[in-house]
Amino acid sequence: MASLRRSAAAVLICLALAPGVQAWGPLGHSVVADLAQRQLNPTAEAVVERLLAPEHTRSLADIASWPDEIRNDPRQAELWNTTRGLHYVDFTSGDCDYQPPRDCRDGVCVVAGIDHYVKVLGDKGQPDAVRLEALKFVVHFIGDEHQPLHGGSRDDKGGNAYQVQFNGKGTNLHSVWDSGLLKTRGLEWKAYADELDARGPVELPPRIPPLDNDYAQWAEESCAISRDIYPDGHKIDQTYVDKELPVAELRLRQAGRRLADVLNVTLGH
Ligand SMILES: [Zn+2]
Repeated sequence: MASLRRSAAAVLICLALAPGVQAWGPLGHSVVADLAQRQLNPTAEAVVERLLAPEHTRSLADIASWPDEIRNDPRQAELWNTTRGLHYVDFTSGDCDYQPPRDCRDGVCVVAGIDHYVKVLGDKGQPDAVRLEALKFVVHFIGDEHQPLHGGSRDDKGGNAYQVQFNGKGTNLHSVWDSGLLKTRGLEWKAYADELDARGPVELPPRIPPLDNDYAQWAEESCAISRDIYPDGHKIDQTYVDKELPVAELRLRQAGRRLADVLNVTLGH
């Protein structure tokens, strides 16, 4: 019995750690959501609060990780299966040039996921329950897309298959970027958002004219960053943290600003 229970636990742990399905951890997602909520116009804020009411919260941070949490909810197995491929886009090793037939086959990638759920969220003909679900995915996926390794290379599953040493333990680079780097600050999400907010308005990269697709551009930015964050000798040391934590925090701030822009345009008038 004990060994059965142990192997069942092992299976659960393996499922929870399955590659390609992680994201900014709850800390990063809540920070992005909270930064965005601070930048909503009054109309968008009112719609957000109305949609969130059945969740007994007014805070986007509280629902920001839900699209990851449904992985562990048997009642949501079907929704998880249809959305699990929408948290990231894997680029080929050659370049960071987003080409949907190659990089987003059958519309299964974060670029298409954001596009789909923004449309549902903005459709006033949909019931509020449907728009609430769409809101959760929009908040989550825009956060995910700014995690550089959610636009990483297919070769190593966005860093999931790239082993590193961090704090004396073995882990993978994707996990370090999801949560390990951010946790080195030792802050809860509210305090972390306060601190990032206090840095003032974030600078956004200029739009790339030929692309003309914001969601694709954000993925290409992540891809370009991801190519530059592989540590020497597979080791995450303090020098690495000092160099890369500001990059991670810039991406959180950019995600917050852009999520606010999307919600203000979609809900704010
Ligand atoms: Zn995710």
